[in-house]
Amino acid sequence: MTKKIIVAIDGFSSCGKSTMAKQLAHDVGYIYIDSGAMYRAVALHCMRQGWITNDDMDVESIESHIHTVQLKFVLNDTGYAEIYLNGENVESAIRSLEVSNGASRVSTLPAVRKELVRQQQQMGVEKGIVMDGRDIGTVVFPDAELKVFLTASPEIRAQRRMDELLQKGEQVSFKDVLANVKERDYRDQNRKVSPLRKAEDAVLIDNSLMTLREQQKVIMELFEQRVAAL
Ligand code: C5P
Repeated sequence: MTKKIIVAIDGFSSCGKSTMAKQLAHDVGYIYIDSGAMYRAVALHCMRQGWITNDDMDVESIESHIHTVQLKFVLNDTGYAEIYLNGENVESAIRSLEVSNGASRVSTLPAVRKELVRQQQQMGVEKGIVMDGRDIGTVVFPDAELKVFLTASPEIRAQRRMDELLQKGEQVSFKDVLANVKERDYRDQNRKVSPLRKAEDAVLIDNSLMTLREQQKVIMELFEQRVAAL
């Protein structure tokens, strides 16, 4: 049997990490894990409990309850892992702009990060996974055989995000989405715990001007190189 590796894909929000990660996982038969979905699900839970409001965050309640929040990925009919929060499928509920914001705020809390990183590391014990996020190559799997740091310009990312939200029927303006992208970039790069940064041994890919097919080719070549080097 061929040996399996861990693929870590990090980068800014809405730069296409999940598209790249999902595609690769599908092409090579690995499991795709969306670590951002875990922060989003925690945020959704906190918003429902009233621990996160527009201008406030009840850090004490969040930190003392984080261990009671149960997260699970379950494969759907198309083989894609969907996230469940305390037994409820929240895959689509977590994709709103409001939850994006909550996730970026809740992800600054050390106790939340510690618990989610622990769960993510468990998912990688047998390798054969592609995980995307912000700290996968730096903190979750510092020994991952393949690390990618994906980036694209804020305007291109805002346009992609807007297209996604419009498709789901959420009415948003380009200005708001761009502001949200920039705000999240700032928070992700400047938080005290595990700020977003490129791991030294990560391959930098700017996909601003790449087609999906070109991107797929680049990541596949990298994957094949790393597997061949085992
Ligand atoms: O990737 P996505 O936009 O779904 O992530 C939602 C939020 O969760 C991000 O803005 C980021 O703050 C946080 N996150 C994180 N670490 C990860 C994945 C996501 O801090 N590994």
